[in-house]
Amino acid sequence: MTAPGPLATQPAPVTFAKAAARAGVALDAGQLDRFARYRDLLLDHNTRVNLTAITDPAAVERRLFLDALSMVPAIDAYARLVAADVVFATTLRLVDVGSGAGFPGLPLKIARPELDVTLIEATGKKASFLTRVTAELGLDGATVIHGRAEEIAHDTAHRATYDLATARAVASLPALLELCMPLLREGGRALFPKGTDLAEELAAGRRAAPLVGARIIAADRLPDAETRLVVADKTGPTPKRYPRRAGIPAREPLGKGNAAS
Ligand code: SAH
Repeated sequence: MTAPGPLATQPAPVTFAKAAARAGVALDAGQLDRFARYRDLLLDHNTRVNLTAITDPAAVERRLFLDALSMVPAIDAYARLVAADVVFATTLRLVDVGSGAGFPGLPLKIARPELDVTLIEATGKKASFLTRVTAELGLDGATVIHGRAEEIAHDTAHRATYDLATARAVASLPALLELCMPLLREGGRALFPKGTDLAEELAAGRRAAPLVGARIIAADRLPDAETRLVVADKTGPTPKRYPRRAGIPAREPLGKGNAAS
């Protein structure tokens, strides 16, 4: 076989739709259209507001959309678990803490429109972008809150009301548990995508979990092999003092060594 010349046709890249289907998430034409519009809005706004370091459309699909979609099977598994448990169909409520430009919350909402999704984001410009995208894509059951999880988690309208929580690239596991567990009802579940070099963080997370009414039940690699999905169940109530005030969960993480936290 001779080496291809410079004009030889490159093998067609696997399309976003195909890659999603391979990951177990079949997307219809309407969903693909929403993803395309979301991608374009993201890249357009990114020239004015710093939303993501990724500027290549294909990389948005690969590294932001598909990464988020790799969590869908875990969400489907939880939905089946809950459905088996209740008589009436319920709408699952998911909260994405520190959503930034919408990850992973918005791709999850597009892929599973039956979820009720709340995006919490502390930075005003990012929250405005999220409001804009949810409006332009006509997403019903998507709410954007500009604020900090430390405060929103003490608001009775939100505390212990969600079934699912996610957070990506926001904080270490002990801080994520402190921010997200108060938002979950008992029996709820948090899904945190993390890198693979996780041993120390996971050990700290395991020490922190019982303090906030949580138990880490899994931390398996996703099929992409570069992500481990930490699954933490809310097994009991979270004491009222958590989360501590803004900034403290990240600065003084729970479960540090033998500290008396
Ligand atoms: N989840 C997104 C954004 C990651 S950057 C992604 O994966 O691309 C982290 C984001 O979390 C920032 O936008 C920051 O403003 C937000 N954030 C950090 N701490 C927060 C808190 N306590 N409450 C709400 N938002 C927070």
